Amino acid sequence: MSQAIITIDGPAASGKSTVAKRVAQALGCVFLDTGAMYRTVTLACMTAGIDLRDPEAVLRVMDSHTFEFDQVSAKIDDQTVSEAIRDPKVTDHVKFIAGAPTIRGRLVEMQRRFAETHPVFVTEGRDQGTVAFPNAQVKIFLTADPVERAKRRLAELQARGLDQDLDSLVQAVNDRDRSDEQRDTGPLKAAHDARLVDTTGLTVDGVVDLILGHVRDLCPALFPSETA
Ligand code: C5P
Repeated sequence: MSQAIITIDGPAASGKSTVAKRVAQALGCVFLDTGAMYRTVTLACMTAGIDLRDPEAVLRVMDSHTFEFDQVSAKIDDQTVSEAIRDPKVTDHVKFIAGAPTIRGRLVEMQRRFAETHPVFVTEGRDQGTVAFPNAQVKIFLTADPVERAKRRLAELQARGLDQDLDSLVQAVNDRDRSDEQRDTGPLKAAHDARLVDTTGLTVDGVVDLILGHVRDLCPALFPSETA
């Protein structure tokens, strides 16, 4: 197989990053966290103090810095911002960046450039199976009950020493989904040929196994020891 792209899309806090990382590990390939790209541009613009609703100003900020993403870290110029981009303030502001078609176009271009040098990879986000890689070999759409997703986000925040009440997190998760679903460009939605995986009540291992089952089914060449 010359190229195998596995896309994992889904709503906020549906566990995409965690499972994308684990699926990539199981397949021995790399993964791309496209949410980190939107977050990093958001942080750079907040730091620059520009109006995030002005796409031209955002593009100027993008042009004046180098952005680097690898599996474990995000960098603006030489500064590691992997922790800072998870701050709830960045999470609240990312919708302005995610809603602008020209900015999305730029980031999708970067994602496709990544694909040129990685024959097999897992990528997660909102539009990976629909816009960035419509010809991907495996497309997964994760869903989960919003309250369960908010509880997962709360546990993540608490692990980092931050606290927030559950009700406001449920509200934030629902607001973010609405804003992601309603934009005109690259909205959150399942590709027509995506396989749906509802993660409610499942462990990370359970979700990873289900996804690997779909990969095995659609790309048996990625499991050479089983097909020999
Ligand atoms: O996945 P994560 O929560 O890190 O994504 C942060 C935000 O970035 C999302 O709420 C969404 O608005 C935006 N995003 C996007 N398209 C992607 C990935 C993330 O619009 N492919």
